[in-house]
Amino acid sequence: MDTQTAKGHFIENIIKEDLAENKNNGRVATRFPPEPNGFLHIGHAKSICLNFKMARQFNGKCNLRFDDSNPAKEKQIYIDSIKSTVSWLGFDYNTPFYASNYFDALHDYAVELIKAGKAYVCSLSADEMREYRGTLTDPGQNSPYRDRSVEENLDLFGRMKAGEFDEGEHTLRAKIDMGSPNINMRDPVIYRVKKAPHPRTGDKWCIYPMYDFTHCISDALEGITHSLCSLEFEDHRPLYDWILDNITIPCHPQQIEFARMNINYTVLSKRKLQRLVSEKLVSGWDDPRLPTLEGMRRRGYTPAAIRNFCDVIGVSKKESRIDMGLLESCLRDDLNENAPRVMGVIRPLKVTLENYPDGRSETLEAMNHPKKPEAGKRDVSFSKHLYVEQDDFMEDPPKKFFRLGPGREVRLRAAYLVTCKEVIKNEAGEVVELICTYDPETRGGNAPDGRKVKGTIHWVNAQDCIDAQVRLYDRLFKDENPEKDGRDFVENLNPDSLEILEHAKLEKGLEKAEPEAVYQFERLGYFCLDSKESTPEKPVFNRTVTLRDTWAKVAKK
Ligand code: ATP
Ligand code: MG
Repeated sequence: MDTQTAKGHFIENIIKEDLAENKNNGRVATRFPPEPNGFLHIGHAKSICLNFKMARQFNGKCNLRFDDSNPAKEKQIYIDSIKSTVSWLGFDYNTPFYASNYFDALHDYAVELIKAGKAYVCSLSADEMREYRGTLTDPGQNSPYRDRSVEENLDLFGRMKAGEFDEGEHTLRAKIDMGSPNINMRDPVIYRVKKAPHPRTGDKWCIYPMYDFTHCISDALEGITHSLCSLEFEDHRPLYDWILDNITIPCHPQQIEFARMNINYTVLSKRKLQRLVSEKLVSGWDDPRLPTLEGMRRRGYTPAAIRNFCDVIGVSKKESRIDMGLLESCLRDDLNENAPRVMGVIRPLKVTLENYPDGRSETLEAMNHPKKPEAGKRDVSFSKHLYVEQDDFMEDPPKKFFRLGPGREVRLRAAYLVTCKEVIKNEAGEVVELICTYDPETRGGNAPDGRKVKGTIHWVNAQDCIDAQVRLYDRLFKDENPEKDGRDFVENLNPDSLEILEHAKLEKGLEKAEPEAVYQFERLGYFCLDSKESTPEKPVFNRTVTLRDTWAKVAKK
């Protein structure tokens, strides 16, 4: 075994063993099978990366398949969003597959089960069926309709299909074992009447196959070899196998379960995310605070960072809760390497350089990336009127504050050394402007006499900067586990998860910023133009992530 084999995760190792035994004639085929009933979240990215990467690694194929057998909840907008999100993440799926394309085949397999005496039409109501089903500790009881003849079952199933019955009047059930310790095997429903049009098949059907019946057959019809799913399907595996063993189908994929991704300070479940959206606790599915992939994309997350995160957390059978800090650190690694540097002041304080000539302006050069000379330089303009960050001034600073204070000298990044001479306040006593001098000998930031100036701060030229709104995001929930002790996660929302700053001043070059292009605003973090609410008249920038993990510090206190 080479080291790569020894290091591979358990699914990779299973596939390698299968290939070594020439199982499936050496073929590998996987699929990512979302139900189009919502938007994808970062948990889905784990499944997407796993399935597509296994296919790529072993020269196989990975299908994107919409598991669209429940028309009541599924919508075209979800299909469109899922397609674009999978592509955005960097995976090629060619043409998507749809479980609904197999409705005819699924129907015929149901008829095959009926003819073999392995499925029957049951006329218990939903409540009765629940009573007959038993519990985890008590076995179920046979339905009184279990022994209907094949002819009667074929007739009733045909009439279900023809629309003669109302929803809930009859179901088609697999005849397995009401005494099984596994409740999924107690004669599960495989077809129900549902008088809802389907986004893809329209009014053609008024009976629809259940998930467990649809899923395994769709896998087999597509020639999937390894059907990878999350752990909650482990108890469904015997049913997956039973169905494929009892119909005439040449392929029997192997279902393998892995642990879902959970991340602290957030929730990863469509149902819970749906609630945040419908109760208007967030602005929509693509709210940049949500762990939805559309929200993360809008916030400035990169596909590379998400793929890297999925690699780093690995794949196992053990449930765990991953630290949000790890996700953010994968993002910082990518942005630190790739995001161009710019200057923006998010809480501006006016600076006037009293000895700088009126009406003059000059062009300076700033590095686009401190560690990558090949990223080049850009022009930044400079004049008598500037803005600096309010936080970079203190009226009565402690010794170790290496920024601006009365009489103190500081370096303006890529520009000059300036000294604060006078502080102007408004009637409320707030500092509204600093009068400074600049040293004309220090263009570029260094003093020819070699005097040491420790602090370097960012700034923008008040004469040509752009005005923008900046949105700062924090964790959506206050606690690591928003559902601790069974509480309602909604009660744990962090009221400070969004801070809007209306009067940011950004360097002129950011006029050309495009959504999803992330910049480092020097010393403040990474930011990108908002793809939804930004306009040329009023640009809106989202803070993607801070430069350092501020929560790690809080946790240590
Ligand atoms: P949710 O439970 O959040 O609503 P889901 O499982 O219903 O999600 P589907 O669209 O049915 O969403 O899932 C598509 C695939 O993504 C499934 O194979 C599922 O196992 C996988 N998946 C969903 N959530 C996660 C997660 N948190 N971690 C890993 N895989 C996941
Ligand atoms: Mg699910």
